[in-house]
Amino acid sequence: MEHTGFPSDETLAAFIDGRLDPETRGQVIAHMATCPECYSVFMSATEMAEVVAAPNGSHRSSRQAWLAVAVTAVAAAFSIVFLVTPVRDLVLPHHDSGLDALAKAAPEQRTIAGRISGFPYQAMVHLTRGESVDPMKDPANASLLTAAASVQRSLNAQRSPANLHAVGVANLLLGHPDAAVDTLHEALLAETGQRRVADAIDDSNEVRLLNDLSVALSNRTAGHPKTDDEALRCAEKAWRIGGTPEAAWNRAIATETLKGAGSDAARSAWRDYLKRDPASSWATEARKRLEPAK
Ligand SMILES: [Zn+2]
Repeated sequence: MEHTGFPSDETLAAFIDGRLDPETRGQVIAHMATCPECYSVFMSATEMAEVVAAPNGSHRSSRQAWLAVAVTAVAAAFSIVFLVTPVRDLVLPHHDSGLDALAKAAPEQRTIAGRISGFPYQAMVHLTRGESVDPMKDPANASLLTAAASVQRSLNAQRSPANLHAVGVANLLLGHPDAAVDTLHEALLAETGQRRVADAIDDSNEVRLLNDLSVALSNRTAGHPKTDDEALRCAEKAWRIGGTPEAAWNRAIATETLKGAGSDAARSAWRDYLKRDPASSWATEARKRLEPAK
């Protein structure tokens, strides 16, 4: 199938050859984190370059080749060199699905109300109406882009529920709400073998996946009337079988959306949260949500 829109074949070729200006280069990296097609073109090109550059039996794996190119590309995109060490730390100890690497690379402030499984506390950015935050524009997020590209690469190699889960979370962090929901839905269907999302929610015992799907659904805005109800059902299930603070949190967020902030149901859900976690930074935020300033 023909790839439509950004980047054109010419732009992608220029990226691979290192001929792009920093801003466009950053846009291509960001796009590649979520586009398997462009990513595989990039990978093939760099693997070929690697063979040409090291014909005498080099033992560098394709992953190392990717790392070398990614580090160079990211550093060039943001004109920053000090990232080399953190990026290696993030990507090399990569035994699981990459969720840990994403958690370490997450932006310092969060733009979504929900709590992603295993992520540390991050204060919420308060945006005025119409304003948005584009994680791609912030040089501090270079390591996030690299971690996102890494989980995308794992998914290209194997479309497993765990890899789908990680890419879904990456989409959330990169500000692609619809792609996040679609990928996490696919993860849940693959994990349970069900065909309908509602059946998969009933069937699944994957607390972290149900939790993160709830976050993605709550995060998706207008035009999706079924979303709010499904967000609450995912969080309820995760809370019932897992009892995690994340699930308690996301259950309260989904209840606020469905029943209104300050409603009896929402206040009751925040009280349940505070019973589970009375003392963390999340608890401080929960108390503010329970007792909004008058
Ligand atoms: Zn693409």
